[in-house]
Amino acid sequence: PDKMRYPYLASLNAAQLKAATAPPEIPLQILAGPGSGKTRVLTSRVAYLVQHHQYKPYEIVAVTFTNKASKEMKKRLQVLLGDKQADNLVLGTFHATCAKYLRRYAQLIDLPNNFVIADAEDCKKIMSTLLKARKEQLDESRMALKEGVVLSEISKAKAKEETPDQMAIRAAQDPNSSTSTLSIIAELYGEYESNLRESNSLDFDDLLVFGLKLFRSAPRVLESCKHILVDEFQDTNITQYELMKCFAKAHGGVSVVGDPDQSIYGWRSAEIENLNKMTKDFPGVQAIYLEENYRSTGAILSAAHAVVSQDRTRIQKNLFTSHPRSTPVTLKVFSTPVIEASFIAWEIKRLIAYSGGTLNYGDFAILLRYNALSRVIESALQKDSIPNRIVGGHKFFERMEIKDLLAYLQLADNPDFTPAFVRVVNVPKRSIGDKSVSDLLNAAKAMKISPMELSERIIDGEPLPAGLKAGIKKNLGSFVGAVRKLRRAAEKGSSVGDLIRLVIEKTGYEEYLRASQQDFDSRWENVQELISYSVIVSEEQARISSGDLPAEWFMPANSAAVEALVNVAQAEEKIKSEARLHPLFRRQSSASDGSRSRSRSASVSVSKGKGKGKNKVVNGNDGVIEILSSDEEDIDLKPKKSQMNGSIQEKKQVTAEMVDDMTNASENMTPLAFFLQTSMLSTDTDGGEDDKDKPKVTITTVHAAKGLEWPVVFIPAVEQGTYPSYRCTEAHEIAEERRLLYVAMTRAQNFLTMSHCQFRMMGGEENDKEVSEFVGMVNRHQPGLLSSTLPDVDLAVRRYISTMLSRPHPDEDEAREMVMKHVRAAPPLSTWDAPEPRDKHSNRFARREVTKATRAAEYWA
Ligand code: ATP
Ligand code: MG
Repeated sequence: PDKMRYPYLASLNAAQLKAATAPPEIPLQILAGPGSGKTRVLTSRVAYLVQHHQYKPYEIVAVTFTNKASKEMKKRLQVLLGDKQADNLVLGTFHATCAKYLRRYAQLIDLPNNFVIADAEDCKKIMSTLLKARKEQLDESRMALKEGVVLSEISKAKAKEETPDQMAIRAAQDPNSSTSTLSIIAELYGEYESNLRESNSLDFDDLLVFGLKLFRSAPRVLESCKHILVDEFQDTNITQYELMKCFAKAHGGVSVVGDPDQSIYGWRSAEIENLNKMTKDFPGVQAIYLEENYRSTGAILSAAHAVVSQDRTRIQKNLFTSHPRSTPVTLKVFSTPVIEASFIAWEIKRLIAYSGGTLNYGDFAILLRYNALSRVIESALQKDSIPNRIVGGHKFFERMEIKDLLAYLQLADNPDFTPAFVRVVNVPKRSIGDKSVSDLLNAAKAMKISPMELSERIIDGEPLPAGLKAGIKKNLGSFVGAVRKLRRAAEKGSSVGDLIRLVIEKTGYEEYLRASQQDFDSRWENVQELISYSVIVSEEQARISSGDLPAEWFMPANSAAVEALVNVAQAEEKIKSEARLHPLFRRQSSASDGSRSRSRSASVSVSKGKGKGKNKVVNGNDGVIEILSSDEEDIDLKPKKSQMNGSIQEKKQVTAEMVDDMTNASENMTPLAFFLQTSMLSTDTDGGEDDKDKPKVTITTVHAAKGLEWPVVFIPAVEQGTYPSYRCTEAHEIAEERRLLYVAMTRAQNFLTMSHCQFRMMGGEENDKEVSEFVGMVNRHQPGLLSSTLPDVDLAVRRYISTMLSRPHPDEDEAREMVMKHVRAAPPLSTWDAPEPRDKHSNRFARREVTKATRAAEYWA
């Protein structure tokens, strides 16, 4: 009967239904594999609590792992419950939820409730002031304490609720602590805390710590909470578990969902043990298992299972799908990452061209093991004008460490480039505060010289201009020294990679990153990638000067892969002509939808430069880049759209002309100038407000992709050293890496393409690479599970459409939209039959699929 009253229950299977409607007072654990509808059940349970059990929305607390996930859940609940009810739910991450309560009740624990949340940067500033104040003491005891180290020690303490006093006691009791580092950290911790309190701020960890404090000392604030639901429970840490207990205390209502196979945050002290703990803390806890996967095709599921089940210690779980096996999972090998990335770009376009409007850029995701891998992918997508966005991070050339290093190189190349000066004159810290910088800028302006020039003059002994403090000379010394060394090396023709290494060495940049940034590893990988990139760019420059340029060389920052690009261009041409024959496509392109055909075209438009400057690049409007040369003549780096629409032959010709221009323009360029220009051109060119809702390919780390799904997923760099990461050596770490690959693979709904390279450059050194042991094992034991040939797209797309439409219980809104899209795009059935059958079987298959699809379409329409 409930099913009739609540339509969202009708689309659940028996186990899901049982979980969603289980009596609220029984503690519930829903344990199940990826794509089995855990999140969906949790969402339905929230709606059911409100509608059936008449809970008030504010009596329900639903916690997700990321902000993105909670936004998704909210959207769904807005549909199920209406905006007003959904808005009153307490919905968010643990951090956000605690913040919400603290805002309201902080005064109960003597905290003003208008507190500010201090971000990492703020915390670093506080700590650096504290360290400075202790400089003498630290020098005396020869302790080199850095902000990052102290802060991470404090963060660990906060995670286990250790106070400064307790830390001091621990330090005193430690038999090995003849050195008193820990006791000094404990003191710093105390000072740091009072500093935060004085400035009325809470750091990120504080949100959880003070949340706990509040809930324990004033449990009545949670009186209103009747039920807490936690998604991704396998990745909660101890503090979060304690928080959950507080929420559940008042009324005992608790439901968690999780999957031990997807626990991937052990490195951040997530406790898989929490699942067992719960059995003790909540007597009578009931476990419900879901076994049907609704997300992925059979092929994807078997391949993913073959990976995760290599872990013998894992508890076996059943997971099946009633989807057909469909398109095989592909495992491709390439020689280099640039080719790999071009391939991905090409494959995206190929699928879109064939999909007749059923796939758009938003349906694609590229999942990366670590951040630095994004550079080459971004560049390949940019080259093909494929809109993309990076989730949970910055684009490569917008990352702090990359901008810092480039700023040094810019100063060496062009001392007059003031933005670079401002960026790094005090990076790493040289006691040149904001005030000193602005004094320098003003003085330089008055003298009509650049601040760099002024700094050099000061170092060379010219009298200090009025308004500058005497101490500045001393502080500028190392900065000017570094820039000068760099300039000299550049003039002598050092390679850019060596220049970058020189910056690092002369400024102590590695030490600085390590000391001040908690995510040092990831940032250092980016630095190494920048060095590798410089090698690729210099090869490119050499190729230009020798005239040996790939036909498609019209976008910079690409194509060490001459051959691959030409191949891709030819294949692309073929695909386009094939696609034009495709009935779906014919229909699409004849429709007057200009934007679609535009996005499909590989060409880029030209812009006229404005402004002045030397080798400076400005991001123009509508994604067009302007390049300004020293003699203020515009160089058109990119061919005109009309020029690029011809055949490959014509393309080559046009490109050759362009190459001539480019060669002339770049002939007199130093390697450094060329590198800087190329890097600047690689920065993001789309963006802008009106761009927000356009579908884009998602680039994200696997960690940030948790819980999400896409029809098409690419996982590049499935290599030893990446899966598992070179950083992991111990068995439990390797096991977590395996699960990480499992999480990545199970994000895919219909197409999963993994790839690996034979060579990958790291820090400018070419390394031989082997395929990841995790998939190597699959290949050995279950040959055929991973296919090395690309799927027949036409057939694959038809299968895709039919899978989407024949889901046993389609997700109402999604499916409806999907079908309508398809109905609009699809030609009548007779047209579907028109193309010559490739072979009897495929035609019969296609026809059957299409009939199925059409029936579903009719039904939904
Ligand atoms: P993960 O472990 O990756 O977080 P999950 O178990 O939370 O996965 P969901 O994201 O809830 O799985 O569901 C996966 C997909 O399957 C979603 O697109 C969801 O709409 C769909 N789905 C879930 N249950 C059903 C069902 N009974 N019928 C049809 N589709 C379903
Ligand atoms: Mg989920």
